[in-house]
Amino acid sequence: MAEQATLVLIKPDAVQKRLTGLVLARLEDAQLQLIGAKVIRVSRALAEEHYKALREKPFFQELLQHLCGDLHGGAPVLALVYAGPEAILKVRKLAGATNPDHADPTTIRGAFGRNTLEGVMENVLHASSDDREAAREIALWFRPEELIEPLRSGRPAVSTAQNKEA
Ligand code: UDP
Ligand code: MG
Repeated sequence: MAEQATLVLIKPDAVQKRLTGLVLARLEDAQLQLIGAKVIRVSRALAEEHYKALREKPFFQELLQHLCGDLHGGAPVLALVYAGPEAILKVRKLAGATNPDHADPTTIRGAFGRNTLEGVMENVLHASSDDREAAREIALWFRPEELIEPLRSGRPAVSTAQNKEA
């Protein structure tokens, strides 16, 4: 199985609702290694860069407002980097479908997400979609020294502190 790293953002809707701990507990089911974590109040520039592939979408402005916390009392984002075998797919499976109404109820988005009456998709978290995006996103949100394991072309080193001790 491929060693991968993936970026997770616990979004402002979840932080405002005090769901951070529950989402972290769900993510731990993937048995991955947490190699980076920080709380960030997201700037417009960072949100635009993160979601630049979606800039032509009709919901882009709401998407930026959401990530910046403008729709949730100025709540920040908790940014995380998880590493391990098939990390990207494992986290996407736990997250569930993009739209909370379509997400399996046992997934994070199915359990904790909602679409507001104003049409904002409050889907709790972001999770990288593939290796290339994961590498781009991790470099955007974290400086190399903020990760406890180095990334090699988007992937963590094979030798981790844990398996050195084993
Ligand atoms: N999004 C939205 N409306 C849509 C599709 C997406 O508001 O019709 C938002 C939602 O917050 C989603 C983000 O845009 O998480 C990025 O969309 P993407 O298709 O990459 O979904 P994801 O990878 O987050 O499942
Ligand atoms: Mg995506």
